[in-house]
Amino acid sequence: MSFVQPVSMHEDEGLRQLISDASICKGTKFYKMFIFHHINDLSSYLEERRRHGAAVGFVPTMGALHEGHLSLVDRAKSHTDVVVCSIFVNPAQFNNSADLESYPQTIDEDIYKLEMHGCDVLFLPSVAEMYPDGVAERIDVDLGPVAEKLEGLFRPGHFRGMATIVDKLLAVVNPRCLFMGQKDYQQSLVVKELLDRTRRDVELHIVPTMREPDGLAMSSRNMRLTEGERQQANLIYQCLVSIQAQAGIKPFKIVQKECADLLEKKGIRPEYILLCNADTLEALDDYDRSQPMIALIAVFIGEIRLIDNLVL
Ligand code: AMP
Repeated sequence: MSFVQPVSMHEDEGLRQLISDASICKGTKFYKMFIFHHINDLSSYLEERRRHGAAVGFVPTMGALHEGHLSLVDRAKSHTDVVVCSIFVNPAQFNNSADLESYPQTIDEDIYKLEMHGCDVLFLPSVAEMYPDGVAERIDVDLGPVAEKLEGLFRPGHFRGMATIVDKLLAVVNPRCLFMGQKDYQQSLVVKELLDRTRRDVELHIVPTMREPDGLAMSSRNMRLTEGERQQANLIYQCLVSIQAQAGIKPFKIVQKECADLLEKKGIRPEYILLCNADTLEALDDYDRSQPMIALIAVFIGEIRLIDNLVL
């Protein structure tokens, strides 16, 4: 493992320049953060840190980082000694090749943001590093009924692809705590199932959704919306709030229809607008205070698919 000495460059502009100029190589240290590309280098570095008693926190991402991702890094900083963030656009979880090809990539800005939030380590592997036997590899673990519903129906194979990479990354990073966003609520339930089934001793922390001032959940995909689409996109959150506010006032089926009509009138195509049991994601016909409830929405705005949810 070879480390370049930390640089003493503190002005933001200087750091930006440094990051964009530099070739990112094995174990390079920019400012304060290490960047690793190879599994062996990362695991031996973390092994050494753990040997000295450090608790490792892990934040897996696909990059194009925004305040939502960074809130996970902040949470990890406050709970663990060494924060590892990974950026890897996982081909196995895309069921649409156009979506994969157009997935935003902003690596220079991502490195800068992670540095500014005090992330200790960035893992930036290649596809060949993560899938030495090819990207068709999939984990052979039962992900339970929760993986079959909602996103599982509309994006076949997505959760198995996601679980495959999360399991591989966990094997490399071996964290004490894993930090994920409530924004992808179903994903966090599937990961919980994965941890249980693989008996990994990892604490899963679910971090609340970060929103834009108009309520739109932050998402890397938002940057692909046109200005007009972006203006309409906050309707997703308005629908969730209205589902929450109408609990006990109107039957859910009526609220669901009102939300679908509102979205469609503005050119947004809903894939699902559902009220579910928050533990199992079983769909509920109507509000039921005796169960934990969550409203979940998936829509297409033009070509862009967005999801959001609100616990009731
Ligand atoms: P992604 O890069 O989209 O795969 O997301 C990486 C992690 O960030 C996942 O655990 C997401 O749930 C989480 N995340 C994405 N958007 C937000 C948000 N707006 N607020 C909080 N966490 C988020």
